[in-house]
Amino acid sequence: MSLHDELAKLRDLQKVDTQIYQREQALKALDSGDALKQEAIALLKRHDAVEAALRKAEGTQRDHELALKSLEEKRKAVNDKLYGGRITNPKELGDLQKDEEMIAHQISTLEDVLLEAMDAAETARAEEAEIGKALALAKRRWQETVAHTKAETERLTKEIAALKPERDRLAALVDKSLLRRYDEIRRHSQGIGLAITDSGICSACHITLNREIMDRMVEGFEVVLCENCGRILSPSL
Ligand SMILES: [Zn+2]
Repeated sequence: MSLHDELAKLRDLQKVDTQIYQREQALKALDSGDALKQEAIALLKRHDAVEAALRKAEGTQRDHELALKSLEEKRKAVNDKLYGGRITNPKELGDLQKDEEMIAHQISTLEDVLLEAMDAAETARAEEAEIGKALALAKRRWQETVAHTKAETERLTKEIAALKPERDRLAALVDKSLLRRYDEIRRHSQGIGLAITDSGICSACHITLNREIMDRMVEGFEVVLCENCGRILSPSL
């Protein structure tokens, strides 16, 4: 059998090998989702922290509200006494007046503190909502990526398994030593062991081949390699 016939069989094999190789590369390029998972975990931790801060801020606000309520009740009791008409002693009325002023001052101070606490709770609430949204998005992206990778892995694995018997069948037709050489080149040349030389250009590395190499290849007395990429050269037909 002539070398050109052997190369023709190798071309058929390369076609199938390329299909397998492309699928193997696609498998390797699939996103495991690990980075997205780490992102979601980091957001979850941040969300837990802001949620705790929010609960604390709300608690502080409630405490101030209760303290304010009790001061207002106290103030009402003092006012009731002061203007109830039952107490007439000027000294006693003067003391009550002072009490009322003191409580009014405490109320005013506490109202400012309460406003600050309400602001802090509001800020924490907004932050919690924002991180909650980012967390939901990160979770969804992670889940979608994992699902996509799983589906793609199944599809590509199935397709490779379906191509393998054809690969084996075609490989068995090729001369053993030529096949060994081809497989060896393929291993370190992005899955391509054989290049086509239409119009004097290597189909794999796109270099213009010199005349002498082209002539040797057309003669078909020996296996000719691309001087640039080292792949086996074959005419297209
Ligand atoms: Zn080349």
